[in-house]
Amino acid sequence: MTDEVLFDLDGKRVFVAGHRGMVGSAIARRLASENASILTVDRSELDLVQQASVEKWMTSNRPDVVILAAAKVGGILANTNYPAQFLYENLMIESNIIHAAHQVGVKKLAFLGSTCIYPKLADQPIKEDYLLTGPLEPTNEWYAIAKIAGIKLCQAYRKQYGSDFISAQPTNLYGPGDNYDLKASHVLPALLRKAHNAKLSDAKEMIVWGSGKPLREFLHVDDLADAVIHLTKRYSADDPINVGSGQEIRIADLATLICQIVGFDGELIFDKSKPDGTPRKLADTTRLREIGWRNARSLEEGVISTYKNALENNLLT
Ligand code: GDP
Repeated sequence: MTDEVLFDLDGKRVFVAGHRGMVGSAIARRLASENASILTVDRSELDLVQQASVEKWMTSNRPDVVILAAAKVGGILANTNYPAQFLYENLMIESNIIHAAHQVGVKKLAFLGSTCIYPKLADQPIKEDYLLTGPLEPTNEWYAIAKIAGIKLCQAYRKQYGSDFISAQPTNLYGPGDNYDLKASHVLPALLRKAHNAKLSDAKEMIVWGSGKPLREFLHVDDLADAVIHLTKRYSADDPINVGSGQEIRIADLATLICQIVGFDGELIFDKSKPDGTPRKLADTTRLREIGWRNARSLEEGVISTYKNALENNLLT
């Protein structure tokens, strides 16, 4: 694999599906520095779960490129509580957009999956080839199954119709536009919010879910957006491709880092009645590096800027 440009974004009409979400908004920000026009549509005007509406919109707007960042997403608790929505909505969104993209002759489509598609007990770091080699992590299998179907759709349209549809699998993301609702959020925004409020209320302690032992890799969403544009231009193949930072941290150490950044020095209490999820999830990013991309921010820099952004937008109280 090389870092040669295979697809030129110049002058292209790029539909960012899911532009209000954390990933879609980061991609729209990143695209602003390309010579391309960005197409977006609000949920009130187009419900991506409805096939006929998606086909009608795609036929009238005729994008050249689609970046598929729309999804029903959430943390470990939301996945456990809303299995039907996680499976159904994600399957519908992907099928509708990918099929309509084929119908209107989209030249390039990039589908965003997740590293939770890989088996729960996959060897680490996780190579793309480990897909479908073992059972999934039960706390997010509904989402994972839908995302695997999305990858397979891209592969199937490529195989049957020669469509240049690719799929990228980002590791755990954080950054501007994240969800800070403690019942639905992922760990990093949740701990930022908890630490901030613990500091404000002069609390003695702060609750961290699970044992604190699982290892996770985190990537700032602006780094992901840069990787997706890089891949849109330079990657054209069947296989999914991992997008990660290569940096791994224990949840307990993440909590300590966040408390230091926020300025909370109370005790961490681990609530073992809450699930740990998969023990470790580190993406092998050899393929991505071969195509010439690596991430710009360290975790610490990313958390500092994310905290600032959350404070400015009043997301923490
Ligand atoms: P996952 O990566 O799909 O497991 O999703 P999460 O980001 O929701 O959880 C990652 C890890 O952080 C799990 O081991 C959680 O138990 C742990 N964790 C610790 N505190 C929290 C919290 O307040 N919220 C969430 N969502 N996870 C937490």
